[in-house]
Amino acid sequence: MKILIAEDDLLSRKMLESILSKLGYEVLAVDSGSKAWDILNSESSPQIAILDWMMPGMDGPEVCSKIRQRESGIDQYTYIILLTAKTEKKDLIAGMESGADDYISKPFDTHELGVRVRAGQRVIELQNQLRNEKEKHLILSMTDGLTGILNRRALYEALEREILRAGRERTPLSIIMLDIDFFKKINDGHGHNTGDVVLKELVRRILAELRPYDTFGRYGGEEFIVLLPGAYMYEVLAVSERIRGAIRNTPFDVGTACLPVTASFGVAEFDFKENSDALIKRADVALYKAKKNGRDRIEN
Ligand code: GH3
Ligand code: MG
Ligand code: MG
Ligand code: MG
Repeated sequence: MKILIAEDDLLSRKMLESILSKLGYEVLAVDSGSKAWDILNSESSPQIAILDWMMPGMDGPEVCSKIRQRESGIDQYTYIILLTAKTEKKDLIAGMESGADDYISKPFDTHELGVRVRAGQRVIELQNQLRNEKEKHLILSMTDGLTGILNRRALYEALEREILRAGRERTPLSIIMLDIDFFKKINDGHGHNTGDVVLKELVRRILAELRPYDTFGRYGGEEFIVLLPGAYMYEVLAVSERIRGAIRNTPFDVGTACLPVTASFGVAEFDFKENSDALIKRADVALYKAKKNGRDRIEN
């Protein structure tokens, strides 16, 4: 784990460096508050900082409050220990009020330093663990368990974002709604597990046809939505045609058999006057038309 030391006194800085390196930390040492701030304000900054209280330029508490300001709103936390020769209680309180987590009085005791830094390390490790869990949970809450693409809720959120963006930037936005034809027959004839294999393979084939900034999600059982920012109607028709081909041209190998699969498509281009529900509704109506007109086809 990386630790930043900011201490203007050379002897004290060298001692800290040596003790902490021996304890296995990766140490970065600077001699002023402003240098410390530059490092802590950068990407992948150390998560533990030992700041001397009195330094020329920016002092420890000042650096500390700047870090806390920067951290508000972002999911990052620096554990800060102030180093102080002051022993008066009111000074300590002011230092801690700047947002420090702990303090060590100079001259410091090697053993005490190690113990306090380790306490900080535990806090940071817990914090990192919590953040990882949060991220994992967020990803899980947005994805469809079977196929790994966005679930219905995340699709709606993405659609709202894309609609706002299209309106702001005055760029086109198109949507595809597609539904596997006679999927019930696959389930009934080959079992639900085989149906699942078909769904996963279908997702894989569609993903291969999309651009990185397209949004793809599972809208319902065997119904999917693709959002294509920047695409006009003629483009979304072309993409749909490619996807239709990728599905129908090669039978799906489900292990025990090769099943022919087709899908029907409803497409719509966003009209700046409508909302997300209206856009989805138009794609849905078009999809219904494709089903009615014989399936394995695209309508708008
Ligand atoms: P159509 O061409 O009109 O769309 O006919 P269809 O049989 O595909 O349509 P319908 O909507 O009647 O049937 C969809 C079926 O999809 C019903 C449901 O059991 C099945 N299904 C929904 N979710 C899953 C899933 O996660 N796995 C599997 N294997 N089947 C699913
Ligand atoms: Mg000093
Ligand atoms: Mg269907
Ligand atoms: Mg359906």
